[in-house]
Amino acid sequence: MSIRENIDKIRTDIEQYSKNPQNVKLIAVTKYVNCDIIKEVLENGVSLLGENKVQILKEKEEKLKILDKNWHFIGNLQKNKVKYIIEFIDTIHSINKISLAKEIDKRAKEKNKIINVLLEINIFEEDSKHGYILQELEKDIEELLKLKNIKIIGLMCMAPHTEDKDKIRDGFKRLRLLKDDLNKKYFNGILTELSMGMSNDYKIALEEGATYIRIGTNLYK
Ligand SMILES: *Cc1c(COP(=O)(O)O)cnc(C)c1O
Repeated sequence: MSIRENIDKIRTDIEQYSKNPQNVKLIAVTKYVNCDIIKEVLENGVSLLGENKVQILKEKEEKLKILDKNWHFIGNLQKNKVKYIIEFIDTIHSINKISLAKEIDKRAKEKNKIINVLLEINIFEEDSKHGYILQELEKDIEELLKLKNIKIIGLMCMAPHTEDKDKIRDGFKRLRLLKDDLNKKYFNGILTELSMGMSNDYKIALEEGATYIRIGTNLYK
């Protein structure tokens, strides 16, 4: 199928599976494709682009400069690489420790900008390298809230590769409930976004309240 048809299919699914389709944003994950393909994605009306590697993101940004787009960083971000993307990044989905949040805040301040961020949560408790575990997050929240040049807008998670759909649904549901709980306890309603759902599981994520879905494979097949 063409990219256009793939985008149309995903947009139809958003209408069908989400209870609030007007709140759902499609992020085209570009890690598999070159700039010609990315241009085709942009020309078909998807302006949010997601990359998970700093160096490649930087190269693509340099080539795509003139086009109207909006970069989201979705991968594991090392502190010492924040400076390479701070100038052009809009949103970072993968805050998993206070030291990273502080570095983003500091660099954003130098550039006089505010970066949107999501807290990545290890909700499936699979491998501890992806995302906050809850105890750690609770410990960091007060400090996170003091950082003025990041705007915490929501939570993100990645589901494991599994055929067990109930397990995936359960994790997405717990992420939504955690957002509601954190909003009540600490954030006073400022958490509005749930970044969850990829090619294999985005329909479940939509049913469970995703507001960002991050799609790669299904756009280019
Ligand atoms: C690659 C990637 C995606 C997209 O995955 P697909 O299965 O190709 O849709 C989404 N989120 C993150 C963090 C990724 O690294």
